[in-house]
Amino acid sequence: MFKLEIKKYGNPVLRTKCEEVKEINEEVRSLAKDMLKIMYREDGVGLAAPQIGDKRRIIVVDIGQGPLSLINPQILIKSKKTFRDYEGCLSLPGINLKIKRAKKVEIQGFLLEKNQLVKIQAEGLLARDFQHEIDHLNGVLIIDHTSPFKKLRAIRKLKKKLRV
Ligand code: ZN
Repeated sequence: MFKLEIKKYGNPVLRTKCEEVKEINEEVRSLAKDMLKIMYREDGVGLAAPQIGDKRRIIVVDIGQGPLSLINPQILIKSKKTFRDYEGCLSLPGINLKIKRAKKVEIQGFLLEKNQLVKIQAEGLLARDFQHEIDHLNGVLIIDHTSPFKKLRAIRKLKKKLRV
């Protein structure tokens, strides 16, 4: 049985600015593999390291086209064109918010599946997914992208549910 738990709203690790990974070694690879396992177990489309309590810049995503495990991902270009869609987050159970995101992004990071530094152009759901997960590495959550009223309501709901 797989033990690692998803850190939920209220845990300070979700508000941490994560650190660059200095060396891509076996420990990092194994952590990314664990993250994928947890993401699939929880039926998520993405997961960032702080969501399992690790403060390093590592994300994994899979929108049905196979896994992408990225170390030190960063957004190089964001389109001016945006689109709104609902987003959930494994760390914010029960919360679904309509969030505005850039329609296209170009990101750069070390892709473990290819074992090299890559640039990826993404649009639509994948672009959304990257923006969501990279936000996590900077301590930003979906509730920070919504109106003050919707944020308050979401926090109330979370506090009730998680008793934090
Ligand atoms: Zn999330």
